[in-house]
Amino acid sequence: MDYDVIIIGGGPAGLTAGIYTSRARLKTLLIESFSVPCQAVTTDHIENYPGFPEGVNGFELVEKFKKQAEKFGTEFIVSEVKSIKNNNSLWQVITEDKSYIARSVIIASGASPKKLNIPGEDKFRGRGVSYCGTCDGALFKDKETVVAGGGDTALEEALFLTRFVRKVTVVHRRNALRGTKILQERAFANKKIEFIWDSIVTDIKGANKVTGVKIKNVKTGVETDFLCDGVFIFVGYTPNTSFLKDTLSMDENGYIISDDNCLASKPGIFACGDCRKKLLRQVAYLRAATVVKSY
Ligand code: NAP
Repeated sequence: MDYDVIIIGGGPAGLTAGIYTSRARLKTLLIESFSVPCQAVTTDHIENYPGFPEGVNGFELVEKFKKQAEKFGTEFIVSEVKSIKNNNSLWQVITEDKSYIARSVIIASGASPKKLNIPGEDKFRGRGVSYCGTCDGALFKDKETVVAGGGDTALEEALFLTRFVRKVTVVHRRNALRGTKILQERAFANKKIEFIWDSIVTDIKGANKVTGVKIKNVKTGVETDFLCDGVFIFVGYTPNTSFLKDTLSMDENGYIISDDNCLASKPGIFACGDCRKKLLRQVAYLRAATVVKSY
């Protein structure tokens, strides 16, 4: 056996698991992906994580988690996990270039932004289409931008974009936002943000880069052309669990089903963070937040 525990994923959930398992003197390896950055790292400002009344940059917060896990002895490698296999009541974790044996595996592989799957989305990715305002916002100085979506991510990122852009038009498929009230209040109060309700982006147009989108009113069916330089897509997330296909029980969207103790459907396999089926997706997963959500 190489390790007591292998953790798959280097976001807040995986790193917190690393702090706990290493501190319990369990020999721990954390495998993080290079190609899939954790969502917290690409969040400019996290203001609802306890202990940081002024808020904290997501990258800095995750770096602190990592230092803390390292301090207690978590080992780190960067690689893609391809699959996990049962091996005489131990688990074999197979990466692109090596495999490791462990008694337990903690899946903390997170989730990646969903695509709209509309014409132009792939073609203009990196040339006007983005899934991360924090990463790409500065490239759109004084530009006209569209944000698709109406959840926390769409509102947070729209607010962030206003630091750079001339205008953000949030296109939301209903006439009420899903995002937290405080973010709604800020977005409504921000002069650079406008809303187009009951509408979806159906097409992204351009030549070398984005020059506009088609927006369809879902109630009337009327489609209009809208000129813009950037389209930011924040329509939810898909769990990064395809490498576990046929290994664990998952719901219809690919979220791992686990019990109250995060134990997944096979002995020795645990799931935590955004890849797990649960109500809330927060860096600080507090019961208090569950209460707020139920109102
Ligand atoms: P989300 O809550 O699932 O919201 C997705 C938004 O996109 C919704 O408004 C949804 O519309 C819309 N949408 C989904 N599919 C669409 C489609 N095909 N076309 C057009 N619109 C579509 O996703 P999220 O905002 O990324 O948040 C994910 C999780 O992370 C949530 O649990 C959220 O609370 C959490 N989060 C928290 C914070 C924070 O606490 N600061 C920040 C970011 C994210 P409908 O509303 O009509 O469904």
